[in-house]
Amino acid sequence: MRAAVLREHGEPLEITDVDRPDPAPHGAVVAVEACGVCRSDWHAWQGHGEWVGDRATEGQILGHEPAGRVVAVGDHVDRVREGDRVAVPFNLGDGSCPQCLSGHGNVCEDGLALGFQQEAQGAFAEAVHVPHADYNAMALPDGVSARDMAALGCRFMTAFHALTARGEVGGGDWVAVHGCGGVGLSTVHIADALGAQVVAVDIRDAALDLADDLGADAVVNAAGRDGRAVTGDVRSVTNGGAHVSVDALGVAETCRNSVFSLRRRGTHVQVGLTTDEERGEVSLPVERLAMMEADFRGARGMPPTRYDELLRLLESDAIEPGRLVRREVSLEAVPERLAAMTDYETTGVEVVTEFA
Ligand SMILES: [Zn+2]
Ligand SMILES: [Zn+2]
Repeated sequence: MRAAVLREHGEPLEITDVDRPDPAPHGAVVAVEACGVCRSDWHAWQGHGEWVGDRATEGQILGHEPAGRVVAVGDHVDRVREGDRVAVPFNLGDGSCPQCLSGHGNVCEDGLALGFQQEAQGAFAEAVHVPHADYNAMALPDGVSARDMAALGCRFMTAFHALTARGEVGGGDWVAVHGCGGVGLSTVHIADALGAQVVAVDIRDAALDLADDLGADAVVNAAGRDGRAVTGDVRSVTNGGAHVSVDALGVAETCRNSVFSLRRRGTHVQVGLTTDEERGEVSLPVERLAMMEADFRGARGMPPTRYDELLRLLESDAIEPGRLVRREVSLEAVPERLAAMTDYETTGVEVVTEFA
């Protein structure tokens, strides 16, 4: 089958033929119909993440936002059947450790990251293997397209979990979103659906226009301005600061701006992962956090066991993930579309829908 393989960090991915996966006893094989192209793929391609032992190695098939149809299941799989249409979270749990058993499978003690580890080859391919499929594969509602659902495997569910479980957003709260790429725009859209008021921050007018379309109540363009000016605008728009502020990019500036956007007792949620500039570390105003009793929280993906909450929101028509999709591309185009992310030349979500 055709697949996009990491051969050398920073060099174009190779589109080549690889062996089709067979299901492990607890696994399933999914024929990929759609897979989003995410900034996490770009980080993996660049070789980022070694500072947390999270660096994709050569030979890795990237791609971690698949939706498609189950074509084979292992002998020990009960719930998932051939023919099921599913989305798959990148944060794969084993379904049996204390974290998985208590509903926190996104931080499974023995988890795998789909498309980032050799034991979990990714979905920029005609087919992808899903370990522990009964725990990790999520049935899609009838009538939705794989293209629209691909972001459920990463950006859309990450935004939902960050806002609800980590940010504990309530109706009427002000939410600030720093960085309006795929996960940032998802955060804007879902926060709006949850009844929050949203201010979106980015340095590109096109991204802010899209944020406005997706439900932002205010936008702040940070291009060429220092953090003090940007966060002053956010605090003014929100009458004293955001209740919840999300760093959806992961560079030092957006992280610090997010923290400085908070009101007293507000909550910062870190979603974006850093680059080789920060190497996982950002200087923060800890006394300000202490004096304001503000929280700094991390968020990673979403527990597979919470998908039903997100799907209910989807079925209520309050959210439409397909509206974020700005472009459908072929597998052959993936190396070039990743390269376009280096200079932030992509807008919204791009999804691979042609694999052969
Ligand atoms: Zn992703
Ligand atoms: Zn686990």
